[in-house]
Amino acid sequence: MIPVTKPYLPSREKLDRYLDGIYERQRLTNKGPLVQELTRRLEDYLGVRNLLLVSNGTLALQIAYRALGVTGRAVGERAEAITTPFSFIATASSLKWEGIEPVFADIDPGTWCLDPAQVGPAVTSSTRAIVPVHVFGNACDVEVLDDIAQRNGLKVIYDGAHAFGVAYKGASLLARGDATTLSFHATKLFHTLEGGAIVFKDEEHLERAKRLINFGITGPETIEGLGINAKMNEFQAAMGLCVLDEMAVNLQARAAIWQAYESALQGRCQLQLRNPNASNNYAYAPVLLSSETDVGITMAALREVGVYPRRYFYPSLDSVDYFGTEAHNRHSNDVARRIICLPIYVGLTDRDVAKIVSVVERVAA
Ligand SMILES: *Cc1c(COP(=O)(O)O)cnc(C)c1O
Repeated sequence: MIPVTKPYLPSREKLDRYLDGIYERQRLTNKGPLVQELTRRLEDYLGVRNLLLVSNGTLALQIAYRALGVTGRAVGERAEAITTPFSFIATASSLKWEGIEPVFADIDPGTWCLDPAQVGPAVTSSTRAIVPVHVFGNACDVEVLDDIAQRNGLKVIYDGAHAFGVAYKGASLLARGDATTLSFHATKLFHTLEGGAIVFKDEEHLERAKRLINFGITGPETIEGLGINAKMNEFQAAMGLCVLDEMAVNLQARAAIWQAYESALQGRCQLQLRNPNASNNYAYAPVLLSSETDVGITMAALREVGVYPRRYFYPSLDSVDYFGTEAHNRHSNDVARRIICLPIYVGLTDRDVAKIVSVVERVAA
């Protein structure tokens, strides 16, 4: 069976050595040495500062909203954030969970990222933030978005869950905005089993976030403000250190698969229009088919040969009941209905790729 993705499993011997160390130290969590080491190594690898490891990518978003003061306003005061309806549910549900109303603005039909032209008109007196997503690792129009935020006094929190390692104009894409969040879930390009991180622009917000993820505790006998538990533990960090060591292998294998899909399907299916100023991390292999009917036919034909692609992201989030919004974002709803993500992971063979391509081509023809 060929799933859409498989978690990357690094060298077992190396992981065992890290676990031996954990057993010797008997330090399992609470800012342990491996969490500290992974923090430094990631800052170095990604070329960022002010990185905070947390227990998952959803809490990374929630902590970022809190650290930047988007949440925690006076009782009864409405807070809104403008975000994209074309994403994983956590982008918008994390806002709702924090008492912030997601206001969905449409995506660009080519890049599938939040269309900056739709953001301006969605700003109201209750808007506090913009939460764009670098969807499938494709860099948003960061300069225009940052500019809209500045002019309106809004915070920008990029959901960079797909954008691990992406460079923009020669620097890290993850250094943009007031904060960028990452997910290190097992299925992501880089992972720590479960986990995530926040990259803050300002150290002041990093320091606030450090308190937030540890119950607001600042010393053995001091509690400074409301907090929660969002700490990463030593086992997660051990996995991360091992996966990080093998990123080159991981990226090389994915790049080859991605390029094989691109050269075979370019011109037959619509592929994502990638930001020309940004690099590709080959995290996903999305293709847009010509109709929802073709999605059904393609998925069925692939299943017949043992391949299980996924409909990422479906449905468009503006149609999810509890947001109480209308599915009025035309491009997001259209793309969500016609998209599938093809398998891409280390270990997928050339033969597998050829098999998948031939089925997709047959339907698209
Ligand atoms: C995976 C993902 C998240 C959530 O991350 P978790 O680590 O699973 O909590 C958030 N946003 C996007 C876009 C994601 O793909």
